[in-house]
Amino acid sequence: MSAKKGKFRIEINRDWCKCCYLCVAVCPQGVFARSDKVGQKGKAEQLVEHPENCVGCSLCQLSCPDIAITITEIAEGTDTKQVTF
Ligand code: SF4
Ligand code: SF4
Repeated sequence: MSAKKGKFRIEINRDWCKCCYLCVAVCPQGVFARSDKVGQKGKAEQLVEHPENCVGCSLCQLSCPDIAITITEIAEGTDTKQVTF
C-alpha cells in the first residue's frame, strides 16, 4: 500500500462535469464509479465512490476534458495543498 494512500481530497465541480466517465476509466485505484441513477444532466452520475483509495497520481485530473477534478493533498494538521504539475 502506498504511504500516501488516502491522504488526498477529491473535489468535483458538478457544474463542469459532463459525466463522460473518463475518470472512471483512467483511475488505477477504482476511486470513481458510474451511478445507476440518472442525474440532472440526463446521464448516469459520476460518483467518487472510494476516495480512501486515492494515491494522488492525478491521472484523473489530467484526463478530465472539463477540468472538473481537483486533487488536493491533505497535509499534516488541517491545512491542504493543491497538487500541481
Ligand atoms: S472525466 Fe471529468 S467530465 Fe468526465 S465524468 Fe470525470 S469529472 Fe466528469
Ligand atoms: S489522483 Fe489517481 S488515484 Fe486519485 S482519484 Fe485520480 S486517478 Fe485515481
